Amino acid sequence: MRVVALFSLIAVSPVAHTQSDNLAAHVHGAANAQLTFDGSDVQMVLTVPMIDVAGFEGNADTDERKARLDAGLRALEAVARAARFAGGECTSRTAQAASQGDEHADEHEHDHDHDHDHGHAEEHAHSDAMLKAAWTCSGDIRALTFDPWQSFPTLETVSFEWIKADGQGSAKLARGTTDLPL
Ligand SMILES: [Zn+2]
Repeated sequence: MRVVALFSLIAVSPVAHTQSDNLAAHVHGAANAQLTFDGSDVQMVLTVPMIDVAGFEGNADTDERKARLDAGLRALEAVARAARFAGGECTSRTAQAASQGDEHADEHEHDHDHDHDHGHAEEHAHSDAMLKAAWTCSGDIRALTFDPWQSFPTLETVSFEWIKADGQGSAKLARGTTDLPL
């Protein structure tokens, strides 16, 4: 049932759209991550629909929403700091999450003529949370253990793409799975 439901969401849902700065569609429950390995420098950019991080999308225009967003972003940073790499020793350097796609972002520039109509219905406003994390690693990293599932109960998948000196790859972690061979 879940597969059917997800498929129909991707196929027909009006919430799916393509962002100007990211070829991956904005689909609720689906996060995307890029991992780059450059010598000892390892970086991750993770994009998560804000609804899965904070329980809403659009502007954090109340104290209650600001608090939920802040808690979600801090939880995202904690997930990054808890990530573990196999095959080498890695030290977390940074993990910073921020919201994207509020009225100051331009990713909805294709949304016709009501971009900046702040009074416009919020149901059209999609937004993402973006996490940028970096590690310094030694050794030959062969796997990542990444577990966002407990912190983000509505998240269903994280699609990873990575680039290493010896090649590149992609794989999707489904809810409950945490081990990503690289
Ligand atoms: Zn959305």
